[in-house]
Formats: sequence, structure tokens, C-alpha cells
Amino acid sequence: MIDCLVIGGGPAGLTAGIYLRRYFRDVAIVDAGCSRAAMIPRTYNCPGFPAGIPGPELLSRLREQLERNGGKITEGRVSRLRKLGANEFMAEVGDTTIAARTVLLATGIEDIDPDLPGFDEAKKSERIRYCPICDGFEFRDQNIAVVGAGEHGVREARFILNYSKELTLIDFDATDLDQTLKDWLKMHNVRLIQQQGRRFFLNEEEKPCVEMANGEQHCFDVIYSALGSRVRSNLALDLGAEHDGGDCLSVDKHLQTSVTGLYAAGDVVSSLDQLAVAIGQAAIAATAIHNSLGMVD
Ligand SMILES: Cc1cc2nc3c(=O)[nH]c(=O)nc-3n(C[C@H](O)[C@H](O)[C@H](O)COP(=O)(O)OP(=O)(O)OC[C@H]3O[C@@H](n4cnc5c(N)ncnc54)[C@H](O)[C@@H]3O)c2cc1C
Repeated sequence: MIDCLVIGGGPAGLTAGIYLRRYFRDVAIVDAGCSRAAMIPRTYNCPGFPAGIPGPELLSRLREQLERNGGKITEGRVSRLRKLGANEFMAEVGDTTIAARTVLLATGIEDIDPDLPGFDEAKKSERIRYCPICDGFEFRDQNIAVVGAGEHGVREARFILNYSKELTLIDFDATDLDQTLKDWLKMHNVRLIQQQGRRFFLNEEEKPCVEMANGEQHCFDVIYSALGSRVRSNLALDLGAEHDGGDCLSVDKHLQTSVTGLYAAGDVVSSLDQLAVAIGQAAIAATAIHNSLGMVD
């Protein structure tokens, strides 16, 4: 029986692993290898890196730090988590099981992409983005489009307006928008395109473009995809953990879920999806886990 099983080896899981090792805790980290941080071309808002740092390099530094403190990552996917008693969890990873006194879920989320041909190819240009909080600053005063639907799309447009006044909201589902929202878009000169899309492509200047069902083509400096995300919280939800209504886990101030002994940190928790937040939450959760386990033998 180990002290803690960390599920997920992104910034949250790796940070928790580093802290727990430095508390002399027996910890296993299982990771399925699809961290959102690996998709960051270069982050400029992660504190401590004034010239920015590519996401994969940040991950590799965190892994090295974990290893220097005696931790290691097991590659694999936890397919099932059971709670057998107070301070006793059992996780299934392939053909093996891991028994742990506590569990930290750091499994993150997965962005929902537009279901159109050419999107994955256009994404390689690094001009299709997901997170204006992260990189809107880098695209200030550029020609920006947001692909989003309904109120959520308008909210995202409102946020991006802080960076550029040349803004288009593309709603492939042609959602029936409230007149107040339409008026708001008009008042701020946000162009609204409500029509089915046909494909994404890059033009000769390598700028991302969308072709609509009627054949019209629209090109931009950058396109933000804002279609929401799938939260990888099912292992906790299956144990009855409370969530915010959108599958993000609800936690107390120590990052413990409503299931005793089950903690969560990073994007899977209901909060701001950011590296600094994932790292900070992991530090709090790891310390709470350590304190809850009593003296080290
Ligand atoms: C394109 C892009 C750009 C971004 N830019 C920035 C930026 O500039 N600044 C910033 O602060 N944030 C940025 N973010 C957000 C940032 O990447 C996330 O907030 C951060 O990665 C969250 O860390 P995490 O550890 O919670 O989740 P993740 O990094 O997603 O890691 C979760 C890990 O859990 C693993 N996992 C999932 N389920 C299981 C399972 N059942 N068993 C085992 N392992 C599992 C996954 O494989 C993954 O490796 C960006 C995100 C994207 C997509």
C-alpha cells in the first residue's frame, strides 16, 4: 500500500509528485501521455520564464525535477478506481492494480475541436489557439476570429475584445442568440457569422481560414476555438465525487473532493485552466495529503 497514487503526469501531477517525494512519501504517478501542456508552442505567462518556454520543455524539466527527488512516472491509463475503505483505494492500470492510501486526480481536460476537415492541419500553423488568457496578449490588435456558440461564444468574444477590436464570432450551429447579445456584438463592431462550415485551410500567407457552406472564405491572423471541453473526471465521478454541473470537480480549500482521501488539482478542478493554477493547487493538495497521512514511518 503506497501513500499516494497520482493519476496524471501533467504540470499538476508532476508538481504533486515532486512535493510528495520531498515529504519522503511513497508515491506512484501514472500518466497516459496526453498533457495539454504538451500542446503549448511557447507560453509567455508562466511565471519565471521571461522569454517564454515551450510546453514540452516545461514538462521535461518537471519530470527531471521529479526524478532528481526520487520519483518516477509509470506510463499507462488508470481505467478504474475503487474505494475499499477509509484510506484504501485500488486502481486498475492495464493488467496490474495499485493500492494507495490516498489518490490525487490530475487528469486534466480535453478541448472539443470543430468537427470539420482541415482543422488538424490548420492547427499545425500555431495560429489556431484555445486560450486567450494564455496568449491573447501576443495577438493584440490582430484580425481575430472566435469559433464558438451561443452565450459562451459571446463571452469569449467579449474577453478577446480587450486585445483586438478586429473581431469576428463564427457560430457554425447558427445558435438562436438573445437580442441583447446580438445588440452587444453590434455595438462593439464584432462581426457575427452564423452558418455551417465546410472546411478549415491555410492560405498562401499561412493564415488560418474558414470556408463556409455557401462557399464564402474568411481568413484571419488567428482563430480561437471556444467550443468547450470534456473533463477527464470520470474516475472521481464514479466514486460519487461532487462536481460543478459541468463535470469539473468541486474541492475544499485543501483540494480534497467530497470523497475522503481523494484529492484533485489542475484543469480537472473547477477553476482557471492555467499552468500557474495547476502547479499551485498541486502544492496545496500534496501538502494536505502529507499532513493527512501522519508521521512518515
Ligand atoms: C494550446 C494550449 C495552449 C496553452 N497555453 C497556456 C499558457 O500559455 N499558459 C498557461 O498557463 N496555460 C496554458 N494552457 C493550459 C495548460 O496547458 C493547462 O492548464 C495545464 O496543462 C493543466 O495541467 P494539468 O496537469 O491539470 O492537466 P494536463 O496537462 O492536461 O495533464 C493531464 C495528464 O493526465 C493524464 N491522464 C488523463 N486521464 C488519465 C488516466 N485515466 N490515467 C492516467 N493518466 C491520465 C493525461 O494523459 C495528461 O498527461 C494551454 C493549453 C493549450 C491546449
